[in-house]
Amino acid sequence: MGPPGAGKGTQATHIADHFKIPAISTGDIFRANATAGTPLGQEAQRYMVAGEYVPDKVTNLMVRHRIDEPDAEPGFLLDGYPRTLAQVEELDGMIAFTGHRLDVVVVLTVDAEEIVGRLLQRSEVEGRTDDTEDVIRRRQELYAEETAPLVEVYRDRGLLVEIDGMGEVGDVTTRIFTSLDVVAQS
Ligand code: ADP
Repeated sequence: MGPPGAGKGTQATHIADHFKIPAISTGDIFRANATAGTPLGQEAQRYMVAGEYVPDKVTNLMVRHRIDEPDAEPGFLLDGYPRTLAQVEELDGMIAFTGHRLDVVVVLTVDAEEIVGRLLQRSEVEGRTDDTEDVIRRRQELYAEETAPLVEVYRDRGLLVEIDGMGEVGDVTTRIFTSLDVVAQS
């Protein structure tokens, strides 16, 4: 978890490689569908361009199908899901069904000012349509309203690992690995 621009996608890839599990990014799946012009992509795109969350029903169903794929059987990393309290409940149900359990929830903490700069820079590199200043602001607002409360939920469950997401990508990765290896050994 972490606000838009916290570096979730980048770090998710490193963590997934380290533990040899797939990184499942809801944002990436939505974007791939949007590019391919599938019905799911067309629906998701309407919300994404405005910085709004795709409705829970759509997102939950997509994740349910994805974690049912054979490559997710040994375990998986979710990037960008859950983002709402309803999704937390839904995920609990899904993994109870598949026989998985949540080991850890990593939250990347970053400075709000730094983030807008990072995202505007990303928009130049990647050309994401949701990286304009207005839309970034809306995504930050939604994160604060809808997603930040999840941090407390997972803290109460004793699953939370908070990582300072500032600085070099490699340094952040090292911080994450150091914490996760402790979790993996316990
Ligand atoms: P970021 O990490 O910068 O916030 P993502 O790539 O994770 O961006 O997500 C991009 C967009 O995809 C979100 O703004 C939202 O519209 C949609 N999305 C991704 N994950 C979810 C989710 N779990 N629930 C609802 N919408 C989502």
